[in-house]
Amino acid sequence: MTTTQTPELKVLPQAESVTEITRKVQDMPELIRRHVTDDQICVLTFDRPDSAANIFDKSTLVELNNHINYILCNSNLKGVVLASAKKSIFVAGADLTQLSKSRTPDELRDMIELGQSVFNRLATINIPTVAAIHGACLGGGYEVCLACDYRIASPDKATKIGLPETQLGIIPAWGGSTRLPRLIGLPKALDVILGGKTLAAKPALKCGMVDDLAPREYLVEKACQIILKRGAKLRRRSQKFAHAICKTGPVLKFITDKVRKQVLRKTRGHYPAIPKALEVVTQGLGKSSDDSQALERDAILELGSTEACRNLIRIFFLQERAKKLSGVSIDANPETKVNPVKRVAVVGAGVMGAGIAQWASSRELGVVLRDINHDAIAKCMAGIARIYEQGVKRHALTRVEARAGMDRISPAAMDVPLHNVDVIIEAAVEQMDLKKKLFWRLDQLAGPDTILASNTSALPISEIATATQHPERVIGIHFFNPVLKMQLVEVVVGKQTSPEVVRRAVKFVQQIGKLPVVVQDAPGFLVNRILMPYLIEAGYLFENGARIQDIDQCMLDFGMPMGPLRLIDEVGVDVSIHVASDLASKFSDRMQCPEVLAKMLADKLLGKKTGKGFYNHTKKGREPVVNARIAKYQSGSACAKLNRDELRNRMVVLMINEAARCLEGGIVEEAADVDFGMIMGTGFAPFLGGPLRFADSIGIPQLVDEMKRLADSELRFMPCNLLQTLAGTGQKFYKS
Ligand code: NAD
Repeated sequence: MTTTQTPELKVLPQAESVTEITRKVQDMPELIRRHVTDDQICVLTFDRPDSAANIFDKSTLVELNNHINYILCNSNLKGVVLASAKKSIFVAGADLTQLSKSRTPDELRDMIELGQSVFNRLATINIPTVAAIHGACLGGGYEVCLACDYRIASPDKATKIGLPETQLGIIPAWGGSTRLPRLIGLPKALDVILGGKTLAAKPALKCGMVDDLAPREYLVEKACQIILKRGAKLRRRSQKFAHAICKTGPVLKFITDKVRKQVLRKTRGHYPAIPKALEVVTQGLGKSSDDSQALERDAILELGSTEACRNLIRIFFLQERAKKLSGVSIDANPETKVNPVKRVAVVGAGVMGAGIAQWASSRELGVVLRDINHDAIAKCMAGIARIYEQGVKRHALTRVEARAGMDRISPAAMDVPLHNVDVIIEAAVEQMDLKKKLFWRLDQLAGPDTILASNTSALPISEIATATQHPERVIGIHFFNPVLKMQLVEVVVGKQTSPEVVRRAVKFVQQIGKLPVVVQDAPGFLVNRILMPYLIEAGYLFENGARIQDIDQCMLDFGMPMGPLRLIDEVGVDVSIHVASDLASKFSDRMQCPEVLAKMLADKLLGKKTGKGFYNHTKKGREPVVNARIAKYQSGSACAKLNRDELRNRMVVLMINEAARCLEGGIVEEAADVDFGMIMGTGFAPFLGGPLRFADSIGIPQLVDEMKRLADSELRFMPCNLLQTLAGTGQKFYKS
């Protein structure tokens, strides 16, 4: 009866009596509901009980296999539809907990073989199979769709389709690396798989990842209609000729060589999953589907044991943790319901105000946008309109949604009542006097339950709060620039901030789809505090004779997204001086703002915003080139002879030292908060797992020895107490 040709499923027999199969399905928790329509179409609906998400764990795969057995035994059936009952998720992917807990290669191999085997059986059912996709359809969730004959997606915002595996240090190994290039052709498949991309429904239709669109309400109906109308013609239609030309010979070699070079340039060899995916996809294309899937299995076994993969999966879990975080471990009553925020006010319509107002309005919140300057408001509204326009171009939202987003923003050039606003976010200029005056006024305009938040990068929240009658409702909600791209938000707890306000602020950040990290009110909070010693050191190294190219290149090779001097140019030399001087005044034992920055400021070399800084920023979209004239600002030569390893070590150990100090000083609760903040806030080499995880991996005693060696001549390298204690006791930041 069975038509399976691919690796035999180890765990279950493939054809049994209907009664036997039904009994087995009844014994298990129902993760996939089965319904047969009057037209004899079998609809399998993924609906994991007590969860908003569907995932592929072992039980789900086994249950799907049982349904396939049922289908194979039932010769009356005309077709199969896969659907989901969840609001915003089709199937979110493989269960990463199970994947990461697969301690031995055999366990991992079993899980991969099980998925491949079940999906292969689905692919060989001899009646049409259609996936009706609404919501996140990612990784294994999309691989099951690839095993179907046809894919229809809802054009809903929640629908996201893709194979993000390489971002987790693995590759699509349940047939995805084999089936996608055969479906959409090699170049497009490489783009999706190597980039770990996720597409909205319309772009997915355009590139052939889905075949049709239908509104969510009619998805299953349309899938059934297509089966009835096109019947057997749907079978095997997915094997297009798009890939034929790329299968062998010079075209394949040309594409592979070109993409390999791009990959190497982009990843600098740090993300082994990406070149491995390239190898599997290109080699697999010339092989049978079975042999190609064997390559997938071998590759994932190899990748699953790498430190990079473990760190990338850990980051995924840290992101999930941030989505659920309550923000307070003590004091706040966890039973108190937190009402969703409906209206916010953004005060200060500059760079950050524009980003925050746009983001909040796109999340369907009403926004009052207040500034004292008419021109600033006009410029800000034009900037917001541009962001919406780009969103429409990317198919991230429709024109109507963009219009509605704009309409939710009410600009205000004078004081307006704010008592019906849930959260006020102040993003005016960075001056304590001005902020205090503003908070005094906002305290009067706000309602009794309004949260008063500041987006300040460095000013103490507790001091700002003293200007109000209600310091318990003052908090820091620190967005990063650009707001549209940066997911992290620091929730800064002032001395008098009430636990309830912390909890509400955390919920608000989660509500708008950002990732909170709760930090205590201390200079630089968390991210800037750790980043600054690194940027200061880069400035010092340059000042003392090191070359810009060497300083930036060694950190790019380390895995940072941008070199430190280039970052100073991006942030602005003026802003960098401001934050660096502020921190230097608080931590004068180890931080000193490099003189070169003051000289650059005096000569108006502010970086990107003035077109010149450490680099010449000429044309938009073109890589900036080193500003040769800047060499005149070098005043010493002590660092001219340091090689790139030495340069990198100095900058990295200072970051680790400050990160350890943040933990030591209780700025955050756990090492994971530090690493999460640095990865999400600065792009700190994600595959290394963050500064503290990296310290663990290189060995804390070795690190401390190196720091002490450097500290012999330069005191700022002296390891903090926590590092010295850990080194002395043989402990690490993380237990596992
Ligand atoms: P900006 O200079 O671009 O904008 C500040 C705006 O505040 C201006 O439009 C100004 O007209 C307005 N303003 C001044 N006084 C005001 C008042 N009394 N009432 C209302 N509006 C007033 O500044 P920005 O870069 O957007 O920074 C804003 C805040 O965000 C600062 O506290 C800054 O430290 C912080 N921040 C900035 C960044 C960044 O990268 N720019 C990142 C994170 C946080």
